[in-house]
Amino acid sequence: MSVNKSINTILNDPKLSSALKQVAAKVVDNERITSGEGVLLYQEASLGYLGALANLIRERKHGDNTYFNKNFHIEPTNVCVYDCKFCSYSRLIKKRSDGWEYTMDEMLDIVKEYDGQPVTEVHIVGGVLPQYDLAFYTGLFQKIREHRPELHIKALTPVEYHYIFKKAKIGYEEGMKLMKQAGLQSMPGGGAEIFHPEIREQIAKDKCTAEQWLQIHEEWHNLGMHSNATMLYGHIEKYEHRVHHMEELRQLQERTGGFQTFIPLKFRNKDNQMSNVPEVNVLEDLKNYAVGRIYLDNFDHVKAYWPMISREVAQLSLAYGVDDIDGTIDDTTKIYSMAGSEEQNPSMSTRELVNLIRNVGRRPIERDTLYNVVSDLSEAVFEEDVNYKGYVSLPVVN
Ligand code: SF4
Repeated sequence: MSVNKSINTILNDPKLSSALKQVAAKVVDNERITSGEGVLLYQEASLGYLGALANLIRERKHGDNTYFNKNFHIEPTNVCVYDCKFCSYSRLIKKRSDGWEYTMDEMLDIVKEYDGQPVTEVHIVGGVLPQYDLAFYTGLFQKIREHRPELHIKALTPVEYHYIFKKAKIGYEEGMKLMKQAGLQSMPGGGAEIFHPEIREQIAKDKCTAEQWLQIHEEWHNLGMHSNATMLYGHIEKYEHRVHHMEELRQLQERTGGFQTFIPLKFRNKDNQMSNVPEVNVLEDLKNYAVGRIYLDNFDHVKAYWPMISREVAQLSLAYGVDDIDGTIDDTTKIYSMAGSEEQNPSMSTRELVNLIRNVGRRPIERDTLYNVVSDLSEAVFEEDVNYKGYVSLPVVN
């Protein structure tokens, strides 16, 4: 069904409430929806309605383009001084020897493993420990930059930066300037969790506050740099808390324009202190992507992080407002596999990512971290597909 047809079907549905009709009309007219309307979408809108509106926005912004990049992750440590209840990392502080703590040379060796490979980004994020301080990370960024100047460094979140700058007794502005000078180019979106204090206090009370998270991103944007934003959903928060979270992001984006991508992160319940909290289902995942796309009208991109929700749900999400499915990753992250994700060894070849996108009628575009197009792969032909000879003949069983 074409976009216009599906929107018309929604607007003419006699069973649709006038409030939801009004929201649909606003989206069609490119108008911003209110917080109350955001909550209404979560509470009352059908998945069909949300998908049609989110897809309208997605296709207005990007057509069928669906972005991914070629990246690898470095997780410096899986031990952490903080005690976020949802995290499958923090438990290891009591038996530190069971975890890993990379030295700078070990991290540089990981970077060197990708020498000659066409990756464009290194994504660095992990637990917080005292030895990973200002001197350590500025030194690491400088060394990566010296070794491979064209590799984009996307690293650390305000959780780490707040800790590092406090320890170094410097302010956020000065700290982010030093990181930029050392070679940092983008900030990932982690550590945001849920901003509302009612929930943040219960699930992540020790680390940086919502205000500090937002302030560090604002300082970074003020330096002319870009970052992403996440939201941890599907645990003890209510829809009002999700909308409050997105409203804070929308307001900061209005001031700086520095966010590129909104990345909803699904709470997974394996091996953490919230294992008693059930996970939400796939329909809720799709609903959340769609409401995010509708609410955050000033964000260019919405990403489904496939190692977290599985490649099948990532594929489905492309009809619910998502235009980015992250990267090849190459089995270099353990954050979600430790928390119980279906993807225990997350790695996809370019061919797999491209086919995943093409199989749902979208256009695969390899991007760099800043969404410059590296390559349009919609017509790409892969050797493995050429060699495929069709279905094998099965023996006839009489
Ligand atoms: S979520 Fe981050 S800050 Fe919190 S315990 Fe886990 S690694 Fe540490």
